[in-house]
Amino acid sequence: MVAGSIGTGDKKLDKLQESCGVFGVYAPNENVGRLTYFALFALQHRGQESSGIATADGRKLSVYAKMGLVAQVFTEEALNHLSGNIAIGHNRYSTRGSSQACNVQPMVVGKGNNAIAIAHNGNIVNAEFLFEQLYEQGYTFQSSTDSEVIANLILSAPEDNWVDKIRYAMNRLKGAYSLTLLTKDMLFAVRGPLGVRPLCLGKIDGGWVIASETCAIDHIGAEFIREVEPGEIIKIDAKGIESYPSKHDRQALCIFEYIYFARPDSVINDRLLSPARQAMGAGLAIEHPVAADLVVGVPDSATSAGIGYAHQSGIPIGEGLIRNRYVGRTFIEPDQRIRDLGVKLKFNPLPRMLNNKRLVVVDDSIVRGTTTPSVVKELRRAGAKEIHMRICAPPIRYPCFFGVDMATRGELIAAQKSIPQICRFIGADSLGYLSIDGLLKAVALPRDQFCLACFTGDYPIPVQLEMDKLALETIQSQQQVFSQAGRR
Ligand code: SF4
Repeated sequence: MVAGSIGTGDKKLDKLQESCGVFGVYAPNENVGRLTYFALFALQHRGQESSGIATADGRKLSVYAKMGLVAQVFTEEALNHLSGNIAIGHNRYSTRGSSQACNVQPMVVGKGNNAIAIAHNGNIVNAEFLFEQLYEQGYTFQSSTDSEVIANLILSAPEDNWVDKIRYAMNRLKGAYSLTLLTKDMLFAVRGPLGVRPLCLGKIDGGWVIASETCAIDHIGAEFIREVEPGEIIKIDAKGIESYPSKHDRQALCIFEYIYFARPDSVINDRLLSPARQAMGAGLAIEHPVAADLVVGVPDSATSAGIGYAHQSGIPIGEGLIRNRYVGRTFIEPDQRIRDLGVKLKFNPLPRMLNNKRLVVVDDSIVRGTTTPSVVKELRRAGAKEIHMRICAPPIRYPCFFGVDMATRGELIAAQKSIPQICRFIGADSLGYLSIDGLLKAVALPRDQFCLACFTGDYPIPVQLEMDKLALETIQSQQQVFSQAGRR
């Protein structure tokens, strides 16, 4: 997702935010709308702003998409109207794009036989440039998303079949994208050549499914077959399934899929994420040992890593923080008292577990450093004698351009402060980050398969790293034009 205004207030979170979950199913024997609904539940962690399903019955497309969580968006009546034998679904978290009803997905673009529905996970780096070209050619936009740019680019292709049209668009897109696309009688899975975002293929009775993560395939009782390869297009229709691979120079799967984004019960590159996260915790215990009484993994994302730290160090693990699963976000307020209240709503420390204890607190990442001080403060208030923070990711010093809602460099605490300064700032007794080598050892895959750019600044494709004020204003004003054009 992209465009619209940059950095709306509700995006200023101290967690990395993923930018969507996508799904697709071609299954003439199944209720595809309902299957997609169940799969979207399994992908809810990838996006909580809006949810939607589009279906096709061989003649037309139907779509139902609204702001809200899956459980809030779909009614029995809405699901009953989503008939057909093919469906795609989407859960959205907007990155730079605005969170508005006009940006919900799947989005239907084009008309009649030329209509296509799109569900997109990722971020197109050259979306503004492509938008301007398409706009000058007379293409109109209903949203302010880069997903609609992709769809219009496909429609603008001179080629006369869908696979070639998609390839035409892929040759022009720069950035990260995993897509499910729907025409009136075909389902497509498309993964960008860098493979930044995951996408996998499964089989279900008489048909096929596509999902961002294997957990969605498991949940609907389908069988995982394989990952969609970087640069690959998969076409599924009445004649069966066909793959259109392409050569790619460099693979750059986002390492945060392993650290934090994907569910612990998902498998990526043949690696189940829960043990990979435990190995990160074990790596932290080796790299940053400390004398302590109790290990606490910040729930839920660092629970597995906490187990790994405890096993490796021999320090017992305990539930020192209980997470309220029904609080979605910690809004960053200018007022520290309100910020603390937000953390309290999300995590309740247990004084009976923590009192007078030396704690190792394992968390997945520190982005801006805005909520960690509140967590440390709450743990101290609950009686913790010492707090040793251990972080599964190396320090984040560079922004993300590939669909993760991450701050500008000026807002990233590790770009501004040394590790001892961060330790003092968050109020911990010690602070240890997992090294890049330790992280790669934990995921047990070669370095050249990953994007590590937010740690190293080495981006898999050229990006404009630091914007000066003038450049930022120019882009903001371009995006406003983009956004306004989208509302026309
Ligand atoms: S820059 Fe960081 S968050 Fe963004 S894709 Fe690369 S590894 Fe993932």
